[in-house]
Amino acid sequence: MVSLGTELQDALDRAADGGRISEQEALELYRHAPLHALGRAADAARRKRFAGTADIATYIIERNINYTNVCVTACKFCAFYAPPKSEKGWSRDLDEILRRCGETVQLGGTQIMFQGGHHPDYGVEYYETAFRAIKAQYPQLVIHSLGASEVQHMAKVSGVGIEEAIARLKTAGLDSFAGAGAELLPARPRNVIAPLKESGERWLEIMESAHRLGLESTSTMLMGTGETNTERIRHIAMIREVQDRTGGFRAFIPYTYQPENNHLKGRTQATTIEYIRMIAIARLFLHNVAHIQGSWLTVGKEAGQLTLHYGADDLGSVMLEENVVSSAGARHRSNRMELINLIRTAGRVPAQRDTLYNHLVVHTDPADDPVDDQVRSHIASTALPLVEVG
Ligand code: SF4
Repeated sequence: MVSLGTELQDALDRAADGGRISEQEALELYRHAPLHALGRAADAARRKRFAGTADIATYIIERNINYTNVCVTACKFCAFYAPPKSEKGWSRDLDEILRRCGETVQLGGTQIMFQGGHHPDYGVEYYETAFRAIKAQYPQLVIHSLGASEVQHMAKVSGVGIEEAIARLKTAGLDSFAGAGAELLPARPRNVIAPLKESGERWLEIMESAHRLGLESTSTMLMGTGETNTERIRHIAMIREVQDRTGGFRAFIPYTYQPENNHLKGRTQATTIEYIRMIAIARLFLHNVAHIQGSWLTVGKEAGQLTLHYGADDLGSVMLEENVVSSAGARHRSNRMELINLIRTAGRVPAQRDTLYNHLVVHTDPADDPVDDQVRSHIASTALPLVEVG
């Protein structure tokens, strides 16, 4: 069995205790620490942070609302977008968006993620109109949506500054940013997979502005498009640097590249082990970010369960609708009962949470579990047929 040198063992122990490790230490641990040692340390860090509720793992009921697939940014890993004027392009009108919000409320969903392409005509006004209408009709729905890339694009379309765009979105009803578009923040891999997106530094600057203007966010990372381990750790180091200043990132959510129907053509993919190790390193390195989410949607249900033993405290959502990673081949589907069961059989007490990670329902006794199988994830994709959950 590989044993760590004294210095790395010290770093692992420090991180397990909630202390701070350097970027270089994180990289060495990511590369060399035995998997179980990483998991033990990450689990200890999680238990320490959530002392009193450490046996709980959470999920949320939400819906992605994909308002358009028309996009000028043409990211190479993306199977969702259609270029402007393409016959494959579509946009949902406001009535359809509101209908989908209504279904979300009816099924017990608490959050929507408004997610779509960089439409050449959609400036700040488009989002203001949509968010105002949603809040007028469904004030109970939390709008946890968009990210720095969309802000950059809409501000350019409207000819306004970033801060004005953010402030107007907030006034119109945006509750928090979902942190979309982070992909990989370091320049080399970002330029390879998303050459037309803003730089990683710019993405972070915009999120920092949002945090300062009172809109918190989550943060994400796309793994498996050919980035190096050094670049993966740089990505989380860039997030930690902003978090040191703002404290505005509520969570970190790594997910894996899906290989179908896009220009990268599946040349590389992150393995389950790489993903699990990243979850553990994220918990250990991002000592200043509260929540680490395992993405069962992209890595699968069993791997999702494993993340709960490697530092994750949250298993994401019963996503009532998803089109983006589904278009690229993510076919994992679930429903509320199954997600509860996955968490419970992973040895944790399941709890439905809200956007702020408050526990809404703690499923302590299986006899009290919901029996409503309407709360299930499925796709409404234009790229794939509807898959029923068995
Ligand atoms: S990832 Fe987003 S910005 Fe990039 S092409 Fe797809 S829809 Fe457009």
